[in-house]
Amino acid sequence: MPRPFNFSAGPATLPQEVLEQAAAEMLDWHGCGVSVMEMSHRGREFMSICAQAELDLRELLAVPANFRILFMQGGGLGQNAIVPMNLIGRSASRTADFVLTGSWSIKSHAEARRYGEAHIAAGSATGRQAQLPAPSSWRLSPNPSYVHLCSNETIDGIEFQELPDLRTLGCDAPLVIDCSSHIASRPIDWSRLGLAYAGAQKNIGPAGLTLVFVRDDLLDHALPICPAAFNYRTVADQGSMFNTPPTYAIYIAGLVFQWLKRQTESGLTCIAAIEARNRAKAQLLYDCIDGSTLYRNEVDPTCRSRMNIPFFLADESLTDAFLAQAREAGLLQLKGHKSVGGLRASLYNAMPLEGVQALVKHMQAFEATHG
Ligand code: PMP
Repeated sequence: MPRPFNFSAGPATLPQEVLEQAAAEMLDWHGCGVSVMEMSHRGREFMSICAQAELDLRELLAVPANFRILFMQGGGLGQNAIVPMNLIGRSASRTADFVLTGSWSIKSHAEARRYGEAHIAAGSATGRQAQLPAPSSWRLSPNPSYVHLCSNETIDGIEFQELPDLRTLGCDAPLVIDCSSHIASRPIDWSRLGLAYAGAQKNIGPAGLTLVFVRDDLLDHALPICPAAFNYRTVADQGSMFNTPPTYAIYIAGLVFQWLKRQTESGLTCIAAIEARNRAKAQLLYDCIDGSTLYRNEVDPTCRSRMNIPFFLADESLTDAFLAQAREAGLLQLKGHKSVGGLRASLYNAMPLEGVQALVKHMQAFEATHG
């Protein structure tokens, strides 16, 4: 029996090969007699799993040598506190700037207010947006500790297609991004970044692991109240082993990185091949939505997300019937986020093109009977 296609926004679909390998290695990892779940995090076996995962991730995303990769816990929302605790003290004004583009960046701003001044440089803390504010319109504060944005708004379906270059705006503060829901779906321009964080449970692996990429010069600004387990310097110096890391989640993430490395196509780096595939998948679904009178997506085409595609039925009373018939067709977890309603398809790396084709076929058949 083929598995159904899972469009969940996260925790989300994982490559079947990864699940199969994890199942085969469940009771006895590489002949050592125990499961990865049962190993000491400081033992030789797990240390090798963790080191390999980090190396593969660094290679995949071309992470420069002056960035540390940290395996942390607490998710994206945890980082909403951990980032200001580590960075807001960089400037005397203890001010961080926020670009508000949807639900997740609004949450980041609200949390940072506990630790210092959180200045809204663009956007608004209320109301939905269908467009990204142009960087030239941002009202940055004079000397912010950092500038924060969410590079892919999972709920709103809005994605930065390019990271802003703060230097061209006359600002030399580090840019911090929450890239939870599109990490590893496209290349990252590290030259524009000081720090990036991402919960793993969308494109990387199981919930419980949070990735942090932090530039070396940003490790030493933590506020005195910052818990040691969340101090970037401490975590970096201890190789993400200050406290017990989420070992099994790191192991699965490592298998996903190896799977990603196998996705090369001639002449393209892995991440460029993945990006091309993601672009094609998203295009297929947006073309279906735009070509129909029953479905609509409200995001400006210049910033539509390739990963999370919210859409609505012209007659919203049909939403439950759409979902029930989708389930029967083997298309799962298409319900929109509760704060916006409607429908949402998340097309992470592990979603094959065939899954999107099956969804489009279902949408067209549904429109033929209900349109
Ligand atoms: N940021 C973004 C962009 C997200 O999509 C999510 C989860 N959907 C979060 C933060 C929150 O992540 P967590 O629940 O792991 O804290």
